[in-house]
Amino acid sequence: MSKDADSQDDAVERSLRPHQLSDYIGQTAVKSQLEVYIKAALKREEAMDHVLLYGPPGLGKTTLALVIANELGVHIRTTSGPAIEKPGDLVALLNELQPGDVLFIDEIHRLPKIVEEMLYSAMEDFYIDIVVGEGPTAHPVHFPLPPFTLIGATTRAGMLSAPLRDRFGITEHMAYYNEDELKQIVLRSAGIFNMAVPDSAALEVARRSRGTPRIANRLLRRIRDFAEVEGTELSVRLVDHALDQLQVDDRGLDAIDRKLLMMMIRDYDGGPVGLNTIAANIGEETATIEEMYEPYLLQIGYLKRTPRGRMVTRAGYQHLNIPFTEH
Ligand code: ADP
Repeated sequence: MSKDADSQDDAVERSLRPHQLSDYIGQTAVKSQLEVYIKAALKREEAMDHVLLYGPPGLGKTTLALVIANELGVHIRTTSGPAIEKPGDLVALLNELQPGDVLFIDEIHRLPKIVEEMLYSAMEDFYIDIVVGEGPTAHPVHFPLPPFTLIGATTRAGMLSAPLRDRFGITEHMAYYNEDELKQIVLRSAGIFNMAVPDSAALEVARRSRGTPRIANRLLRRIRDFAEVEGTELSVRLVDHALDQLQVDDRGLDAIDRKLLMMMIRDYDGGPVGLNTIAANIGEETATIEEMYEPYLLQIGYLKRTPRGRMVTRAGYQHLNIPFTEH
């Protein structure tokens, strides 16, 4: 996709973000806990405890961080692990915080080690020690910070070091959304786009969205394009037609998911196959497979993990209409 199309997509995505907990659909358990922590922080007039959100991409972690800041009535600074390259970058960010503000760090597992270590005292006791100057004139400076809330998001909780993980008072796991929740998200987004979408068509989009709001919204936009070009009303038939064109099948698998399963069946008799081998064979990064493709295939039971590698399950074979052979 071109850079322009990418940034256009980003802008649309932003316009679809809910601002309040009450507009944030699904994640009921996460929401009800956060509601308590937010209320408590407001009552005590203190910064809320640090929050770690983890789960696959597109499930609403960034959105939730924005919602939390909004509900707390504070400013939010957003950044990501790879964007904070050196301690000075972190100091600059922390320096701008007002008491109670939120600092959101996406992909927090990708923070450089030296920056991560500076975060420890910032999170625990709201100060950082930095070294100013070089050579013989170098001296440490103690830099107090206002109390703030760090919200970290990660697709890989396992990649966070224990000292960082332990400094988050609140850890929330974001789960895939069910069809009904995704349907509500589709209908809400359709409302923002001023599109008339029958319930049945919204449900069909939901079914094919891999449990992920970002995908539901993206499919909805592509379907809107089809409806406009073909000059037809949005219906289940149009959704089917558009998604077939986009090679998204009835369980929401795309061409890469199918290629992955097919390759494992054809070349490795369904597995076990190691992650690196899978990645090399289908020409994707290992991290992309691990973070984007595999979690959903595991969730719907088409893949399973074994100590010797990944295996395609009977359901996975059935989905591709290939007879299952016990192994
Ligand atoms: P993540 O940070 O987990 O990758 P985002 O917060 O960027 O995901 O969410 C992706 C898109 O999905 C957002 O644009 C938002 O519109 C939509 N979205 C995510 N979660 C919800 C939700 N619970 N309710 C409504 N829309 C949501």
